[in-house]
Amino acid sequence: MYWHSLYLGENYKTLAGLYLHIPFCKKACHYCDFHFTQSLRQIDDIVDAICKELVLQNEFLGKDSIYSIYFGGGTPSLLEHHHLKQIMKVIKYEYDLASNIEITLEANPDDLSREKLQAFYDNGVNRLSIGIQSFNNDHLKWMNRQHSGEEAMEAVYEARQVGFENISVDLIYAVPYGDHSIWENDLKQALRLRPEHISSYCLTIEPKTAFGKWLEQGKLYEVEEEFAAEQFEMLIDTLRQYGYDQYEISNFAQPGYESRHNSNYWKDEKYLGVGPSAHSYNGKFRKANVANNAKYLLGLSENKIPFEVIHLSKEDQANEYILTSLRTKWGLNLNHLKNKYGVDLLMVHRDYLNKLSLQDLLYEEDEHLILTDSGKLLADKVASDLFIELNP
Ligand code: SF4
Repeated sequence: MYWHSLYLGENYKTLAGLYLHIPFCKKACHYCDFHFTQSLRQIDDIVDAICKELVLQNEFLGKDSIYSIYFGGGTPSLLEHHHLKQIMKVIKYEYDLASNIEITLEANPDDLSREKLQAFYDNGVNRLSIGIQSFNNDHLKWMNRQHSGEEAMEAVYEARQVGFENISVDLIYAVPYGDHSIWENDLKQALRLRPEHISSYCLTIEPKTAFGKWLEQGKLYEVEEEFAAEQFEMLIDTLRQYGYDQYEISNFAQPGYESRHNSNYWKDEKYLGVGPSAHSYNGKFRKANVANNAKYLLGLSENKIPFEVIHLSKEDQANEYILTSLRTKWGLNLNHLKNKYGVDLLMVHRDYLNKLSLQDLLYEEDEHLILTDSGKLLADKVASDLFIELNP
């Protein structure tokens, strides 16, 4: 199926995606504000409810084929063989799956025994996204991660033995109390594993997390912007040397290994999110499932999906597009903004755009605005300066 791309050029192949939120974790990482519970008591019930929701939602994406399935969370690697088998059976029965489908499962290294990996592989998972975050055991402990750096190396090794040929690893930089040599070593260790994809995020302190509380109590400081920027530059330079393409600010891939799931969001394509707190978009409206396991289970027990519709004004949609598109290597499509929202960004922000261009932060190519490496350091600031106001 081909669907007109919003900003990646004509005839870009469309990916309708399926996202499944598995809301369980063994331990709460100190920086994390995702939806999960540490009690695994209801894992069977949630899997049953997810299967029911998959059936109830089987028309949400219309007739589109599914090109990407993504098990996220939480910690999907807590799923047992029979859970995955049960979910995949429903998906295969209810949805039209593309023959070259990408099925990703997020995993923590401490869950990845040979047996578990084999179970994922046998159930069709063909891409692992492993939350390594760091190879430094002091950093891992400080972040309240469950695993060690050695276990992370071992997990990737085992995954290769089982046959996984598409592995992504997550890394966190700008850790307070860290220094550049630790980050350099994290990058070196990650590269030794030769992952096909690397996602790397700057540690941010979210209010409702352990780190958020520590910050409030003065037990934690946030790193200087300059320190974070230096580590970001180390990341870009190192991964570029090893042939990774930075296709989005935080995402790097060997040729042909860009994550379909990520691209789904950035390209404004359809996706169905199933499970507590999962979001969905079918080209017409967005919705968010309730971020509460008990309420989710109660709703599904009555064959109702507890969700709320998210209303985005045209202005919000245009600004969201500016924000996300500028983060990608393809940039912001000026014609898309003109055709869909009636905005000529070159006219509205002419002086500011000239200034950015003179400062070598941004350039225009084929009707697209693209950030330079220096511009990427200021991506969110540049995007918010370019936000537009539309009459309701
Ligand atoms: S980072 Fe992952 S493993 Fe850690 S608490 Fe958040 S969802 Fe769970």
